[in-house]
Amino acid sequence: MRQPLVAGNWKMNGDSHSIRSLLDGILSGLKTEAEVLVCSPSVYIQQVRDMLTGTPVKWGLQNVSGHLSGAFTGETSPLMASDMGCSYIIVGHSERRALFGETDDVVAAKFCAVVDQGLVPVLCVGESLAQRENNETMQVVASQIEKVLDTAGESRLDNFVIAYEPVWAIGTGKTATPEQAQEVHAMIRQLLAHSSASMAEKTRVLYGGSMNAGNAVELMKQADVDGGLIGGASLKANEFQAICRAAG
Ligand code: PEP
Repeated sequence: MRQPLVAGNWKMNGDSHSIRSLLDGILSGLKTEAEVLVCSPSVYIQQVRDMLTGTPVKWGLQNVSGHLSGAFTGETSPLMASDMGCSYIIVGHSERRALFGETDDVVAAKFCAVVDQGLVPVLCVGESLAQRENNETMQVVASQIEKVLDTAGESRLDNFVIAYEPVWAIGTGKTATPEQAQEVHAMIRQLLAHSSASMAEKTRVLYGGSMNAGNAVELMKQADVDGGLIGGASLKANEFQAICRAAG
């Protein structure tokens, strides 16, 4: 049985005051069997760590460098993330790919650097609207994943998470239907099974893209949807808690 994972991606939002009240709100009366994670802006990770230590909620970052140290102005090392007690790191979010030029090669290098520091990558994949309309969804998603599997090699594939995030659904209020999500999630699991049956069985595949308290239950009911990566709705404590409850 895969434990569902509900992960909040705060993106570049919040300040020390709002983060305090958001985390207080999430922690108060949180009831779920799911694993819960928040990925904060790196500058606030110490505050998040201080507030979440000793609670069931885990913390992580939205991006790290593929390098460990050195002359990389403005970057955050996976070593630093590990030093701050992070559990998970989002890798290859579509905003990183589209706005910061992260190629499949860069994403694969970051995936490896994260795993090598004992952190768990949440690998984001997904097609654009044009790709979906051209019936390229399966091919695009498969090639994004295959690049990482090939680069990482078997030894780095023991513990990772995939987030299927159709680009057209992120931050748009348009959600994939449960059937659309399940179709892609099932393909992803099949693809993993080509490498290893046990990897396919244990690897969690999250859905991301305008998930909210209203649509989470139906999405989470799908056989191959093992939780969610939540952007906008993770900034509202009640909404995020409701998604956590929907997960289990
Ligand atoms: C995301 O940023 O990963 C995301 C899914 O955002 P939203 O929930 O706002 O669509």
